[in-house]
Amino acid sequence: MKKILILTAGFGEGHNAAARNLREALELISEDVQVEVLDLFASSYGSLNDLARTAYQGMVQYVPKLWGGLYSLIDNSTFVEQRLGGFSRLKEALGDILQVTQPDCVISTYPVYAHIIQELYRDHAERPFFFMTVVTDSITVNSAWFSAPSDLYCVANEATANVLKAAGIPGDQIRPLGFPVSHRFAGESPEPLHSPVFGRERRLLYVIHTGKKKSGKVIENLMEIPDTHLTVTVGRDAELKTKILDRTREYGNRVRVLGWTNEMPELLMNHHLVIGKAGAAIVQEAIAARCPMIVNQVIPGHEEGNARLLTEFGLGAVAERNREVPDLVREAFEHKAKIWTEWRRNLGRISRPDAALRLAELVLEHAEAPDPTRKSIQLFSTPPVAPVARPVPAAAAVAGHPEPRRLLCDFHIHTNYSDGKLTVPEVVDFYGRLGFDCICITDHLADPRRLIGKLARLSNMTVSETQLTEYFAVIERERRRAWRKYGMLVMTGIEFNKDGYTQKTSAHLLGIDLKAPIDSTLDLPETIAQIHAQGGLAIASHPHIMKSEWGKNTLHLWENQDTYAPLIDAWEIANRNNIFDCVGMKALPFLANSDFHKPKHIYSWKTLLYCEKTPESIKECIRRNEHVSITLFRPEHHQAPVIAPRGRPALTAAEAAEFTPQPALEVVHG
Ligand code: ZN
Ligand code: ZN
Repeated sequence: MKKILILTAGFGEGHNAAARNLREALELISEDVQVEVLDLFASSYGSLNDLARTAYQGMVQYVPKLWGGLYSLIDNSTFVEQRLGGFSRLKEALGDILQVTQPDCVISTYPVYAHIIQELYRDHAERPFFFMTVVTDSITVNSAWFSAPSDLYCVANEATANVLKAAGIPGDQIRPLGFPVSHRFAGESPEPLHSPVFGRERRLLYVIHTGKKKSGKVIENLMEIPDTHLTVTVGRDAELKTKILDRTREYGNRVRVLGWTNEMPELLMNHHLVIGKAGAAIVQEAIAARCPMIVNQVIPGHEEGNARLLTEFGLGAVAERNREVPDLVREAFEHKAKIWTEWRRNLGRISRPDAALRLAELVLEHAEAPDPTRKSIQLFSTPPVAPVARPVPAAAAVAGHPEPRRLLCDFHIHTNYSDGKLTVPEVVDFYGRLGFDCICITDHLADPRRLIGKLARLSNMTVSETQLTEYFAVIERERRRAWRKYGMLVMTGIEFNKDGYTQKTSAHLLGIDLKAPIDSTLDLPETIAQIHAQGGLAIASHPHIMKSEWGKNTLHLWENQDTYAPLIDAWEIANRNNIFDCVGMKALPFLANSDFHKPKHIYSWKTLLYCEKTPESIKECIRRNEHVSITLFRPEHHQAPVIAPRGRPALTAAEAAEFTPQPALEVVHG
């Protein structure tokens, strides 16, 4: 088993995207690899980092020029070196992690780590692992990336390789493999200009970022260009989405407005042109998708190189002002799309859609199997916190011989498809590392005909009907990864929000282990019938009086037990910290869930099942409601171990809290 540690930082998208894509590629091409992505800025500095991030976003939004100056200051190597004293917590944390995990290979996607590693191993002849830097900047590369040593430098292109060479880095240490975009770009051809499917349609993708409020006029001008079809993504800005929806209604299906999306690779592959800001991730993804780009915003400093990449290699254009974008689009498609065709041809030459896979191969080549005679180097006098022994069987062993055992489960979890804080992959890693056996992701789907449904749609708190296919596809992808990596079952679910004017007409219903979307406008009995038709479970969510962040209590199912008790598979006897003892008194089948929206909600009631670890056994166990108990999930001790037991990936310090679930309350049923 090769152990690979990828270090990233949440400042700006490029670093995280590179880290995530590289991990996915490594896990795709090798079974014999354990990959961890760690953001030490997030885990060492906690709320301070949140503060920095907010400040960063604020600055980017309102004073891009000021940020340009700060960026060059922060990433200036002497500044970094002088500040290392102030990074002592970071240094200590990384030292602990390296010492206990003994990785075979460490990869950095953020320049500061090379300096910290240099500091850590200052007195030793060599590092006990292979160290590689993935440079996420292009062309304008700050010296901080290479002023501390790495064994190898991976860069996005030859032009960037030349910058490093000019700075004295030996050529054999530089690999221009491309920026590690998602492996989903590899193996597919982009959309031709005139395809049998789309005919004369020119499909433009307009990626609007927060702070770009004046996009309405640009959209109107774009729509004047004949044959233009537009997809607009607005991120999580619900107000902006509503505004653009209103403004584009007249164009009918020529304009599609999306909120936050996980499917950027697919969108770039089936559009002819993308309009957006010069962020590292989007520019590199556009190149990988061979989708020409028109940049409408360049933040001075780290984004300038990305914009120059487009203009110098003829891959698109840079608009001085946003309102020039429609003219640039028009010109690109004039004269039988002469300019566009040229861009597409140039993209074909520079595009490296399989960069992440090739980088992953390179990493595996250099990550030697651990040498048993290798001595661990003592970096600090204080020993790290001892790992807690709670062995988790490997997925394969569980799959081979399913035997009844106690399973730790949570069937009520929200992600940022609705109002949760974490993405689906983040939820999977969070629960996987804590040793859960089965989880179900249940984002809110509101009935648009109901009052609250309308409000909820406005505030972006529910998954939109148009995004349901994507929601199912993303969870399916993560289901496979969760099983491979953690031996954890992941189910797809939906929380159907049927909110009325009063609490007696409001109900929340969980559909567990669904195979396909269900129409949000169906009434409750019909929704339950559809859930059952898919082999899923219908669960009454928080059925009684409680403190709710959603406002109103949801008593409809409880008040109409005569109708619903025969239809519903189980009722939440506990939801987060609320206990509904009435469910027990009525002897209804029960389970307990977090109603998870953010990491701190993990400290809450959970279900323990005693059955085989398969979706069918788990559902049957809940239906029969035998061997079901609930437990109040609490950290065993608050000293957070950074390292997990053997066979389980490490937790970041912020997440790390080891739990030993024990049935706190056994309810014997029947
Ligand atoms: Zn709810
Ligand atoms: Zn919920």
